[in-house]
Amino acid sequence: MANKLIYFFGKSKTDGGGDMKALLGGKGANLAQMTKIGLPVPSGFTITTEVCVSYYKNGRKAPADLAGEMEKAVKWLEKEAGKKFGDVKNPLLVSVRSGARDSMPGMMDTILNLGLNDATCEGLAAATSNPRFAWDSYRRFLQMYGDVVMGVQKKNENDHDPFEEVMDALKKEVKVKDDTDFTATHLQELVKRFKKLIKDWTGKAFPTDPVKQLEGAVFAVFSSWMNDRAILYRQKYRIPDEWGTAVNVQAMVFGNMGDDCATGVAFTRDPANGENVFYGEYLVNAQGEDVVAGVRTPITISEMAKDKTIGAAHKELNDVRKTLEKNFGDVQDFEFTIEKKKLYMLQTRNGKRTALAYVKIAHDMVKEKLMTPEHAIKSGDPEALNQLLQPIFDTVAYAAAAKEGRLMAVGLPAGPGAASGSVVFTAGKAEELAAKGQSVVLARIETSPEDLRGMIASDGILTARGGVSSHAALVARQMGKVCVAGAGDIQIDYHKGTLKCKGVTLKEGDQISINGTTGEVFHGKIATADSELKQVLVNKTMKPKDSKVFQYYDFLMKLADKYRTLGMRTNADQPDQVVNAIAFGAEGIGLCRTEHMFFEGDRIIAVRQMILAKEESDRKQALATLLPYQQKDFEGIFEALNGLPGCIRLLDPPLHEFLPQHDNKKGQEEVAKQLHCSVAEVAKLVSELHEFNPMLGFRGCRLGILRPEITEMQARAIFQAAAVVLKKGIKVKPEVMVPLVGFKKELDLQVAIVHRVAAEVMKATGKKFAYTVGTMIEVPRGALTADEIAESAEFFSFGTNDLTQTCLGMSRDDSGSFLPAYQNLEIIKANPFASIDRTGVGQLMKIGVDKGRTTKPDLKIGICGEHGGDPSSVEFCHIIGLDYVSCSPFRVPIARLAAAQAALRNPAKPVAVKMIKDSKAKPGSTKSKTSAK
Ligand code: PEP
Ligand code: MG
Repeated sequence: MANKLIYFFGKSKTDGGGDMKALLGGKGANLAQMTKIGLPVPSGFTITTEVCVSYYKNGRKAPADLAGEMEKAVKWLEKEAGKKFGDVKNPLLVSVRSGARDSMPGMMDTILNLGLNDATCEGLAAATSNPRFAWDSYRRFLQMYGDVVMGVQKKNENDHDPFEEVMDALKKEVKVKDDTDFTATHLQELVKRFKKLIKDWTGKAFPTDPVKQLEGAVFAVFSSWMNDRAILYRQKYRIPDEWGTAVNVQAMVFGNMGDDCATGVAFTRDPANGENVFYGEYLVNAQGEDVVAGVRTPITISEMAKDKTIGAAHKELNDVRKTLEKNFGDVQDFEFTIEKKKLYMLQTRNGKRTALAYVKIAHDMVKEKLMTPEHAIKSGDPEALNQLLQPIFDTVAYAAAAKEGRLMAVGLPAGPGAASGSVVFTAGKAEELAAKGQSVVLARIETSPEDLRGMIASDGILTARGGVSSHAALVARQMGKVCVAGAGDIQIDYHKGTLKCKGVTLKEGDQISINGTTGEVFHGKIATADSELKQVLVNKTMKPKDSKVFQYYDFLMKLADKYRTLGMRTNADQPDQVVNAIAFGAEGIGLCRTEHMFFEGDRIIAVRQMILAKEESDRKQALATLLPYQQKDFEGIFEALNGLPGCIRLLDPPLHEFLPQHDNKKGQEEVAKQLHCSVAEVAKLVSELHEFNPMLGFRGCRLGILRPEITEMQARAIFQAAAVVLKKGIKVKPEVMVPLVGFKKELDLQVAIVHRVAAEVMKATGKKFAYTVGTMIEVPRGALTADEIAESAEFFSFGTNDLTQTCLGMSRDDSGSFLPAYQNLEIIKANPFASIDRTGVGQLMKIGVDKGRTTKPDLKIGICGEHGGDPSSVEFCHIIGLDYVSCSPFRVPIARLAAAQAALRNPAKPVAVKMIKDSKAKPGSTKSKTSAK
């Protein structure tokens, strides 16, 4: 490979830095940065992500020059550490850790204490005068190497780890309780047994040559990039497979040399609620994985100050805490080790946090000038804002549960919110019950990365062991799951399928309730209630000034509005939905699906009369019955909009959707009664209207073209409503949208009706109002001929649900049967109906935008398909220069943040003067920031 393969960080040189995450991975870049700013970091080197990428490109073969470069790097590290690799007197030991560009906690592999064999272990024992420590390190190394590199792993989720089984057997034999009770002789015996275990399982002897060990470990880390859990994690968080992982090789420091040693993890602020408190935990005489694995429950960091032996390190850590926030401009999640009272920093990264912590930290750190407003916006996961709308326990039900004595245990509050549902003990069962629509709480002694699927499926996670930085807490926090960790009083028996505590025994499927904000665990169900944010914005049962959560959220949203250039609209069909959406920040309606109104009350009877009518006069009469209903609906909507624009779409779905189908005889009888005709007549009509492929049949503008009186009624209802609302002194901005247009003539025919009716209404009511008529672009022909269509349209709105369906030739209703398999096979990266397929559908959109604006440079263009609330699609809409996105009311905050991120990630290119004159200015250039025009 032509590029540099290895970067160093240490006393003599550091050639990486915090801004090199793409090449060095997050861990490597930040180790280099911490070294640069003078924090105590053991020396090491980073093999770049490019090496990993090349490893996979060449069929899992490393570049030819890697071995030579690694040899040189090891020599350099030996000099830095003053120890030699494989030295039988004073051996250099290293850790080998993965490190992707975005951290993927616990998903890939790590190996510690590499370099040990029988001879170097004796050397280490002599050099440290601590044989126990040396044999403990050796057994740990065998355990990790055996697992990660040589594949000695449990086969089923309820099996015990094979190494743990050997260890437990020895504990029983020599009658000790904890790992720490083993003597050096016990550990020496354990090493022997571990070696035998490896040989028995793999048929291969454990490699004794440190260089071979290192080689094996580096490739194992590269391979772990493609393990199942890493792939699943990347799918969930949309991390591209192409990024690859870096590998960090670092001189070991030891937290397990005695009681003047410790290891721990800490956050500079509380990642669960965002409070500005030093938050973390540690274990004396332990190595890093002990804390995260949740095997021993660690001590909270504030306790360290009282420790007579290592208490001084607490102050030092507090200083590090401040230095890190100042230098990295965000909350840090870091790992440290204290070796013989001396502090070492092993890693730092931006701390994963709950949505609640995200909004609070953004608010506080921006105000404290520790975080830039841009970073505050960029660092959030828009999708996670949903967590702020998650339920909490209903106050009355919660108090009743406490009074009834149903509180079983209190653990650590690791993921805020309330979850109540069936308790399950395996990830598989969690997935199974969740698939049946049940609420599930996954209870495990401790979780491991293999539980990931079950954790995703569960509403809440409960563990008996482990601290706030255990795997369960970490993952729950990131996913926004309700989580109680380390509830030490509960006993879980996987084989019996029970959870016991304080005399209560719950079996799989029994109800359990957990409060991730307080750490409480209750047996039985507890009803949940709306979140504070919902109480302020939707129910209006709480005042903004009484809710801190609302204030943090509001700060962030206002910040987002400063950066975004996309307008925000909502898909809403009812006044209450409009009111909610406006409270969430919508600036108008992007899609009002009028057909939803046809089902309200008994107006469906008139709709059916209209469909059934044989004569035009009958149809007109039915439509005349419908008109006042529709008008009232629109009045309500215009009033709720209070002057904001409202885009109302003409009738779209095929008519058969309004009739009971052939398999609903009872429904047909009812209709026959309502319409005073025979059941046979209704059945005949149903079969006449039957279509083999209704999605591509008689729907969209085709309805209005063949039955113009429908368009006429709807236009009249819209404009008469506008006139009524205007009379009340409320401004109106109606926009009439024609669906499913593929030919300019289709639009022309509909536009003519709308204009005629508008003129008639204005004349009849004496009220003048501005309105526009535009079209949806939702079939490929519409996009491809957008230049022609734009001659007749005053605006476009991409209907990406239909555009995806027609571009891909995949039914939006039937693709569920094969899309998951397509995703697994990586034919598609994401569900194209949820996130815009940029290469295919996106290309049609781009053509639509370019062609449309060739005809009308100022053509207003939006999107109203479901993609309008998907962060990645919002970014795409920003890139291709749309004016606004429209999504469901509850996704508006997500879209607002995503739009701000899109603007920051894709800054406007300088626009040439001529370009401004010739065509519409594009994102971030001259448009107003907040108005959806
Ligand atoms: C669309 O097709 O994207 C759209 C918004 O219309 P509907 O979902 O109603 O077909
Ligand atoms: Mg559509």
